[in-house]
Formats: sequence, C-alpha cells, structure tokens
Amino acid sequence: MTFTLFDAPQQEASQFVGFAGNVIERLSEQRSDDAVEIALVDPAARMIAVRSGRIYLKVIGEDLDPFYSPNGMDLLGPRLQHAVLLGRDSAGPVLAVPVGTEPDDLPETIKAIDFRSVYVQGLLNTEALGALAQGAALLAWHSSHRFCGRCGSKTEMRAGGYKRVCTGCETESFPRTDPVAIMLAVQEDRCLLGRSPHFPEGMYSCLAGFVEPGETIENAVRRETMEEAGIRVGRVAYHSSQPWPFPYSLMIGCHGEALNDDICMDDDELEACRWFTQSEVRAMLRGETEGLFVPPPGAIANHLIKAWANLELN
Ligand SMILES: [Zn+2]
Repeated sequence: MTFTLFDAPQQEASQFVGFAGNVIERLSEQRSDDAVEIALVDPAARMIAVRSGRIYLKVIGEDLDPFYSPNGMDLLGPRLQHAVLLGRDSAGPVLAVPVGTEPDDLPETIKAIDFRSVYVQGLLNTEALGALAQGAALLAWHSSHRFCGRCGSKTEMRAGGYKRVCTGCETESFPRTDPVAIMLAVQEDRCLLGRSPHFPEGMYSCLAGFVEPGETIENAVRRETMEEAGIRVGRVAYHSSQPWPFPYSLMIGCHGEALNDDICMDDDELEACRWFTQSEVRAMLRGETEGLFVPPPGAIANHLIKAWANLELN
C-alpha cells in the first residue's frame, strides 16, 4: 500500500469550491447557554438574515452586503429568539437570524436572493459565502428539530445553536450534516455524466447520492453508480468536499474507475446518462458546445470534471 499524504497538494482541492471559504472560529467547545444573548449585545456583532432559502442582502451602490449590525435589521422582522451564533471572525461575533418580512415587503435597498443564485452568480466573497453555508444549514436543522425524536416533547436551543435539549426527557441532539457522495466515473478517455429532470436544460453533471448508514464513502460511490447507471466501479479516489446548505449536506467528491461501459439508466432518478469524451468535456468547460454544459465553477462537480479533463491521458 502506498502512503500518499506527503504527495497531496499543499492547497487542498476543497479550498476552491463554493461555500468552502468559512473563516469563522466556531468556538463550539467554549459556548455558554446564553452565548447568543451575549453576542447580540456586542456592538461589534454582525448578522446575516435568512428566510425560506434566501439571504437578504443590502444593496450598497454596485455591491451587496450580507451583514447587519444588531440594530440594523428591524425592517426585516428578526426572530432573535431563534438566532444562532456562528462564532467569531476578526471583526467580532457572527450570527445567523431567521427573519419574518416577506421578500415582496422589502425596501428597494434590500434584495432577497436564493442561496443557489448567490453562489452561481458570485454575489458574495468566499468568506461571506462560507458564513452563509454554516448559518443556513444550522437554521434549517433547528427548524426541523423542534420536537424530541425520542419522546415527542418540545426541544430548546442551547450553546448558541450548537445543541438542542428535550424539555421532557433531556435528550440532547446536535446539528447534523448529511454526507452525499458525488462521483465522476471515468474509463480511458471518457467520463460518465447524467441529467436529473430538475437540471437546467442542457446541463450534465456527476452522479450523486446519500451515503447510507453503515456504508463507506467508496462503497456509496460504487452503489450509486451501479444503481443510477448500471456501471460497475472499481477503484475510488477521494478528491474534495463541499458544504452544501440544501439543507445541510456535505458533498464528498470522488473519482471512480468504471469497469464496464454498457449504461443501464435508472429512469426514476435520471432523464439522460451517457459517456462524454475528454475533448467534449473540455469544450463544455470552455462553454464552446451549443446547448451542452457542466455545472458552474463553484460546484464541486465542476472541479471533479475539470480535474479529470485537464489530465494528460495516454
Ligand atoms: Zn424527549
């Protein structure tokens, strides 16, 4: 077996994907139960405002600013009792706050933009996008864990949002991340791409699926590729990962070695699936193919495809 750690690049591939630029120090081991209350009265605190899959951004000239001061979000109907503390960056505490004002009722100086568009259109810098990934995922987890899974009683937030405790049986639950394997199966000068019905017209991407309980990442790659495309995968190599706040996943990107080439597509999951040659994929990455394209540069799929397409093959 080869020891590969010191052959790994100094700059991890995960640094270059969307939502990965979080610089907030989470301080999750040092939080008191009133950590949010303390942060909210800190004049240096900054907050992002989130509602129904959208972030509310201040329009300042040509720029969009995601951060509000503690007194600066009254117009948005902040629900401060549900705020979560993301941690601290160099400027002070950072929080995420669910807000009640509907997008249609916002003043012209504030825009409600869905998370996906924010990253696809590059509307925020990488650090703010990282804060959004953390805040959106945490708020989504809280909103779907208001009751205890063991006894059904109400749960309450603790530790600034890093825990919930049941008011009935005192069971503690912690914010979770759902692992998703996303993979590019390759064979000689071809790779396997598919289309889900909800993709924009013309877009092809890597196959993906949730890692199941008791399963390794490598076996999830092999199982999903077989289930969705009928392709057996041999060797699997990890490439990079991406926080994915829809609602709280971690995309785990791998390359896999395809062992057969006769595709047997799962019609329930995909509407198309086929092999693409390396030159076709390079043209798609360069935007030179009429009506065919791959996901945008922030997407981990783009990075998996690019890493392979740029290889010199024999
Ligand atoms: Zn309980």
